[in-house]
Amino acid sequence: MLKRTFLTASLATPFLNLKAQTIFNGGDASDLETSRSQGFWERPRWVWLKRPATGEVIKKVYWQDGQLIEQAYSDISWLLRDVRFERMMALKSPIIRTALNNGVIDSHQVTPWIAMDAILLDILYAYSAWLDFNKVQSPILITSGFRHLLTNALTEGAARNSEHTKGGAADIVIPNVSPMKSAAFGRFLAGGGVGLYASRNFVHVDKGRVRTWSL
Ligand SMILES: [Zn+2]
Repeated sequence: MLKRTFLTASLATPFLNLKAQTIFNGGDASDLETSRSQGFWERPRWVWLKRPATGEVIKKVYWQDGQLIEQAYSDISWLLRDVRFERMMALKSPIIRTALNNGVIDSHQVTPWIAMDAILLDILYAYSAWLDFNKVQSPILITSGFRHLLTNALTEGAARNSEHTKGGAADIVIPNVSPMKSAAFGRFLAGGGVGLYASRNFVHVDKGRVRTWSL
């Protein structure tokens, strides 16, 4: 079964509580409805995501009544695929051919997508719910999700064993919400790593060790 006890445990305290609200508004939380925070992880978990690179949008419940909904889980994982690798495949890139010939990758690794880590989906659910709670009518923009070993190697500044290569990370942009505020929510959530890339206007979230950085 999936490693979902972690997030549940780390958020045993009522979710969308005073602190989450304060992060958003930067102050007064007098209109907070604490009742809404009850049973956050027991409720249906959903995400609202958009891939600017392809124009795809998804708004789906992927977990309900204690289990993953396979089709939704696949659909969301697909949206989070490596679109750059997908293009390389379509163009029959010699980089892929060479990597195969040299044994750098196996034939089953010639795919632009994998099943994403369910913890990452839970992190994106928390973000989606946080935005919904704060009446931000926008999907989360995904600028990077799964990253193939080969495209990761071509990505400037990417760690060799980046969580992106394991399906455990996403780079997100939230329209009308500053990356500072978005990163602050990620740190509050403590679901894994949170990287603030303020100058490039995005936040990296992953399901790895809880840690924060900014560049
Ligand atoms: Zn990233």
